[in-house]
Amino acid sequence: MKHMLITAIASVLLVGCGAMKIEVERDSWGETTSQKAEFYAASDVTRSQIELTRQWYEIASKAWGNYGPLEFWIVGTNEGAATTLDKRYCELRKQKDLTDSLEHCLNRDHNFVSYAKRGNAGLNTRRNEHEKWSGFIITMSAKFPGPQEKDYKPVVLHEYFHVYQHAHIHSKNDFERKSRNLKNPWWSEGGAEYMAQLLYSKQKGVSPSYLKEIMGRKLRSLKNLHEGESIKDIPYGKRGGIAYDLGAWFTAFIINKTSEVDYRVKFYRDLNTKGFEGSFIKNFGSSSKDLLDEFHNTFLKLSLEGKMKIIP
Ligand SMILES: [Zn+2]
Repeated sequence: MKHMLITAIASVLLVGCGAMKIEVERDSWGETTSQKAEFYAASDVTRSQIELTRQWYEIASKAWGNYGPLEFWIVGTNEGAATTLDKRYCELRKQKDLTDSLEHCLNRDHNFVSYAKRGNAGLNTRRNEHEKWSGFIITMSAKFPGPQEKDYKPVVLHEYFHVYQHAHIHSKNDFERKSRNLKNPWWSEGGAEYMAQLLYSKQKGVSPSYLKEIMGRKLRSLKNLHEGESIKDIPYGKRGGIAYDLGAWFTAFIINKTSEVDYRVKFYRDLNTKGFEGSFIKNFGSSSKDLLDEFHNTFLKLSLEGKMKIIP
């Protein structure tokens, strides 16, 4: 509430308290912005990979709104180049937020050298009570997926949908943020994955059967779900993929019952004030428990053809 008030008043507010003046910086978290994402890349990353990433960021931000501040960091395979990029990254952190420690940043666990070695993509949302700078940092790399893989494009959309999700949670308190995005992956990852694939499937040149094919592949995870097990109880880690895959199906299931606007716009609009369950009930007309029960006990028991009916 306090944040909203500050947001509404002015860009920089001077609050007079007797002789003391406290400067309060404007907190525009969650508002769409005209400020575009920044792109940084290691020296072995090609111009075309940077442009490919930018192109799919543009598609995502056009569809879902432009949120930020957002930085893309693109890592290649050369570890020396990744080390140089790490230094540049940590200098920028320090420049944007004087409270950040250069040393702590350079020694962080998931640095760019680890991306150069192992590949992958990820989003780091910075918003907490200890740091001044709030924002999003997406890392893309050269493998899993690499820019020549078909997956690279939906993965950029997937990471950007996480930006969208986190932009709709205002709090700087870790507990409150987690209570709205949930700890286990079924909700946030399932949503990011389905929205990314849905948006990708609508792009020019993508086969009309693409979404059905990709969602069909995700059903392979069904055999790894234990009897009576709910996707909501699966944590990140070894079996996390089941929650990504079937969570994407759960999102499709909700959108089919309601609409894309109810899920993507209205649920996230109300999430900040009503919390996860409050917004869920308001916008989907049932508790998450009831819809999860129906999803597991009725929907997932349908034939392949019956399930595919909900995929556009
Ligand atoms: Zn994700």
